[in-house]
Amino acid sequence: MGAEYTPKQVRYLFFDREGQCCFYCGRSLSWSLRGSMLAGGWSLHHRKGRRAGDTSYPNALILCGTGTTGCHGWVTEHPEEAFELGLAIRRLATTEEYEPARVRVRREDKTWWLLTERGQAREVEASW
Ligand SMILES: [Zn+2]
Repeated sequence: MGAEYTPKQVRYLFFDREGQCCFYCGRSLSWSLRGSMLAGGWSLHHRKGRRAGDTSYPNALILCGTGTTGCHGWVTEHPEEAFELGLAIRRLATTEEYEPARVRVRREDKTWWLLTERGQAREVEASW
């Protein structure tokens, strides 16, 4: 895949996968408010830093807010907690078990999910 997702991929693989809601808190979002700080604003978050060059579908999430507001801002400002919740993956963790498709991610409601290569989110047991 190329260096970045196309708007069409963002729309159909992420925005719709998340049910047009923030992956973490479940807040409803508006497609037209990408990058906006208004209510309903959202942005695409890369679990493993963009510079690591991973543009597979499991590596990105739709989060409310921007890099400094909402859940996206929280993830940016709380890297350790974000690693624990799978919302972020350490850039230097390059072994197989840290591939985004294998790192489960937790929503605010305490359910755990795996993001598949095909662009789906699959719930997994908490004890998994
Ligand atoms: Zn949120």
